Amino acid sequence: MREIVIKNQADLVDYLLGKDDSGLFEWARAVRDKTIGDRVYLRGLIEFSNRCRKDCLYCGIRCSNPNPMRYELDEQSVLRAAEYAMEHNYGSVVLQAGEQTGSLFVDKIVRCVRGVKELSGGKLGITISLGEQTRQTYELWKEAGAHRYLLRIESSNRVLYEKIHPASGHDYATRLGCIDVLREVGFQVGTGVMIGLPGQRAQDLASDLEFLKAQDIDMCGMGPYIEHPDAPLGASEWPLEERFALALRMIALLRILMPSINIASTTALHALDPKGREKGIAAGANILMPNITPDNLRPEYKLYNNKPMSDIDLTGFNVDYGQWGDSPHFLSRK
Ligand code: SAH
Ligand code: SF4
Repeated sequence: MREIVIKNQADLVDYLLGKDDSGLFEWARAVRDKTIGDRVYLRGLIEFSNRCRKDCLYCGIRCSNPNPMRYELDEQSVLRAAEYAMEHNYGSVVLQAGEQTGSLFVDKIVRCVRGVKELSGGKLGITISLGEQTRQTYELWKEAGAHRYLLRIESSNRVLYEKIHPASGHDYATRLGCIDVLREVGFQVGTGVMIGLPGQRAQDLASDLEFLKAQDIDMCGMGPYIEHPDAPLGASEWPLEERFALALRMIALLRILMPSINIASTTALHALDPKGREKGIAAGANILMPNITPDNLRPEYKLYNNKPMSDIDLTGFNVDYGQWGDSPHFLSRK
């Protein structure tokens, strides 16, 4: 096996553009296996609500899209989904939704987090992905028992960020600030980007990787941009196969740059290739997020087109069941 050495941004760009795929994935896997092992950890994904106050130009549940039927799970449904995760020995759940604020919402999340902790006797780990919030809200959710938070920067290039978000209510500096606050509050912090956006260059993706490294993140979720018919951002000039290949190379390169973080093999990979999540793991990822949202609501939580509705077939994955699988990077820093 040949060692892959990344000296500078030009090397990253070369690999991103497909200079040496086979050697790249083999080395990324080896780095993962040597540093954190070859096991995969599960997070049952609960799509809590598609209500959202934001209007991101790429997203199917943006507030100005009239088409999705808006829903929000009640606490009972969240707890039932968590029970499912317990019964299937998943180890962790993720509470994800559009961005909402207000004390009713904040307190409901507190009750859900506490409820999940109680019903599982503290056994289920809890990740939250509920957008930009105040420090106080982040603290409340942390105290309630959540310990990881996912907030993607979407693109670390401020100009591109501003192209894919409307000016009102969306601000690059605010999003970045939230990542800092989450870290200060004590969460394991995950961020990530979309890959193959309109106007995004390989150099931008290389800078994204450098950004993730400089942020010293604990976890990463990133995946290909996929057009949604109701979202105005529209078509990317990157062909879908190329976006998929880029996403795998991003995973592999990040694994080499940050050997001990958690990297998710995301649903958007699966949307482009029936074996997408397997290929993400083979490229160096170590986290899978099976969807455990109640079946009847899944069609309403369409962030992008062609989003898979079915669960992952877990046979063939080397799963470490019933474990939190916290980021070894976070644990070693503590
Ligand atoms: N509202 C929260 C969490 C839900 S959205 C937030 O925005 O942080 C979760 C992720 O879905 C976003 O971070 C974005 O990266 C991804 N997403 C949204 N629309 C997408 C699209 N069209 N293609 C690919 N990923 C998309
Ligand atoms: Fe809302 Fe998140 Fe979609 Fe933006 S990406 S519109 S914040 S759900």
